[in-house]
Amino acid sequence: MPGKNPPHHNEPVGTASDSSSTGLPDLGTADEPVGTGSHPDSRTSNSAETERAGKEKISPPEQRQEEPGLDRDLKPKADHGERSYKGRDRLSGKRALITGGDSGIGAAVAIAFAREGAKVALAYLPAEQPDADAIGGVLEDAGVEVHLLPGDLRDRNYRDSLIDEAVTALDGLDILVNNAGKQISVQSLEELSDEQVEATFDVNIFAMFALSRAALQVLPEGGSIINTTSIQAFDPSDHLMDYAATKGAISNFTKSLASQAAKKGVRVNAVAPGPIWTPLQPSDGQPIEALPEFGHDTWLGRAGQPVEVAPAYVFLASDEASYVVGSTVHVNGGKNQP
Ligand code: NAD
Ligand code: MG
Repeated sequence: MPGKNPPHHNEPVGTASDSSSTGLPDLGTADEPVGTGSHPDSRTSNSAETERAGKEKISPPEQRQEEPGLDRDLKPKADHGERSYKGRDRLSGKRALITGGDSGIGAAVAIAFAREGAKVALAYLPAEQPDADAIGGVLEDAGVEVHLLPGDLRDRNYRDSLIDEAVTALDGLDILVNNAGKQISVQSLEELSDEQVEATFDVNIFAMFALSRAALQVLPEGGSIINTTSIQAFDPSDHLMDYAATKGAISNFTKSLASQAAKKGVRVNAVAPGPIWTPLQPSDGQPIEALPEFGHDTWLGRAGQPVEVAPAYVFLASDEASYVVGSTVHVNGGKNQP
């Protein structure tokens, strides 16, 4: 299949202990989060090379990347919890597939899940291999299995086989995180092409139908699906018309799917992030001139970091959420919300 199966595809990279032998970057020696304090396990910091943002207010410089954007080139780099997230065995033995798991919110979820004891498989676009390798390196440090499953969710062959690929790689599946998303800012409806509307719906919501349908065939009782919706589902920005509409659809879909899946003992829920600093934003997700002020309109007055969203997914995936069904956890720094 085109774009799939790089050399280490389906090989667990989380079982080796020496990152130099895998060619993966050793993120444990750099990228100390600013403002979050040192992780007890941290080694020598080399933050001059690649400064990683912490939980303080950021004013990113104006910047632009081609879609889908790479965390590697983000200024400042986002905090996925590389140094700070501590697991408490809340997902021991579980097997999770995370779409968009190479960067941003998905990467933070992958690190958190791994440190909570889960085996993880990451789906992402082939162009994002550098980010996937970087997160693979962090997961490797956590000593867990990680499987890399690159491909384009618009490619029906890839989409329709992804759940089976994950089941094969992980020897089963307990958690599906439908997190991949496309967001392109366009100022007016007149400038918004049908092609963009179709692409946004295809990635953001149509793929969720297909992946969830396949997942329900294999998820056991106690399994979980978590969909990434957005504050945009409830408070749409007019320059994100197509994107916001998909997020409204995802929130609605989450409830009907939750009702069906509950009959099988599978819980479906959603997370609705507010403004989170990820590669989505400078790859045309926002107007370039809006980036320095990104997230400053929240009640906390700042954008969130991916690491601050991950605990909501951990909670929803864990057995602690055994009675939480069809719900949405809002993680947005304070904004008007339902
Ligand atoms: P991100 O760019 O790090 O993640 C989005 C991921 O979607 C990409 O890494 C990519 O792997 C995947 N993707 C996009 N198009 C794809 C395709 N055609 N095929 C396969 N994968 C594809 O950005 P993020 O902000 O972490 O986004 C993750 C989710 O969070 C998205 O659903 C996004 O809508 C949602 N979200 C983000 C914010 C925010 O402010 N960053 C706010 C609310 C919701
Ligand atoms: Mg990415």
